[in-house]
Amino acid sequence: MATEPQQPGSTDKGSANDPLKGYDRVEETGVYQMLWDCKYCNTKKLLGVTHKFCPNCGAAQDTNARYFPTDEEAIAVEDHEYTGADKRCGNCGTANAAKAEFCTQCGSPLKDAKTVALRSEQSAAEGAAFLTDSKAAAKTDFDAQKTGGVPAVPKPPASKKWWYIGGAIGVGVAALIASFFVTYSIDVRIDSHSWEKKVKIEAFKPRAESAWCDTKPFDAYGVTSRREVRSHDQVADGETCDSVRVDRGNGSFSKERRCKTKYKSVPVYGEKCYYMVNRWGFARDIKAVGGLKEQPVWPVVQIRAGTCLGCEREAGRSEAFTLHMTEVKKANKKHDCDYKEAEWRAVPDGAVKKIKMRLVGGAKCDTLR
Ligand SMILES: [Zn+2]
Ligand SMILES: [Zn+2]
Repeated sequence: MATEPQQPGSTDKGSANDPLKGYDRVEETGVYQMLWDCKYCNTKKLLGVTHKFCPNCGAAQDTNARYFPTDEEAIAVEDHEYTGADKRCGNCGTANAAKAEFCTQCGSPLKDAKTVALRSEQSAAEGAAFLTDSKAAAKTDFDAQKTGGVPAVPKPPASKKWWYIGGAIGVGVAALIASFFVTYSIDVRIDSHSWEKKVKIEAFKPRAESAWCDTKPFDAYGVTSRREVRSHDQVADGETCDSVRVDRGNGSFSKERRCKTKYKSVPVYGEKCYYMVNRWGFARDIKAVGGLKEQPVWPVVQIRAGTCLGCEREAGRSEAFTLHMTEVKKANKKHDCDYKEAEWRAVPDGAVKKIKMRLVGGAKCDTLR
């Protein structure tokens, strides 16, 4: 599978065999020689592609000693066909070019030979320098790949703070829920009775409203409008890029520009209409109130019915029969409870009753005995 990565080119989003690793755009910007140090004669910075053997002592290149040059030292690879990462001879351990069929050292067939280990990718924000690499760093990298895959970057110990806060909140919520159900019994004295019968009245009136002009009601009048922010669009606004060095396993590495699109929020304006419409809406309550001695009756409803401007209509009736009580042991603690009329009537003023109180406060009205 010969490719031509020597030619800088960009990779389109969605290319199946070249995942973008979370970036929006990946572009190869060049191919350069890795460096290696000869462990026999200590010659340094030999070239990964050019020097398959040490020019000083003749030793074969140690693929495990390959490291990335600094940007200043990087030497571009020109017109060198890339056939894949080197293969390591299973018999003698010598690294051979990917297209070799037999080991140059011992002649063993390389059909089933495994490729050499690759250095981990190195990434830096565009414009920033890469970490200085070396033969020693290469060893650390390969050791880390063997033990866990991830180079040993010290991690700060995870704080248990949130665990404690979460636990405290959980206990607090549980206590609150529990205390809502926990009750205790007290004595109360019935002070008085009251009832209220209420009729809700709506009026048909001009009302000031507003809406986006394309949704304003057909019967709106006195319309004015102005431009207002209706929503926000996320608009592409340049990109942030990382520079990444990728070991190709044959003594060279490619440099990639991996970019993510930045977005900015841009307001989208719409026409907002302000207008009047004639609508039904709450106007007032008409109430009748009394105590145990007054016969509960609905209030007299006097309204101007119809559909004229200013006309009114009923919009529901409700009634309440309330007992007003005081705690026997705490004269300043008063409670009101609503009951059905018959229950309300059956309890005389001055009676002392038992009622359950919630731990968090408030009487459980249905427990009055
Ligand atoms: Zn040497
Ligand atoms: Zn061999």
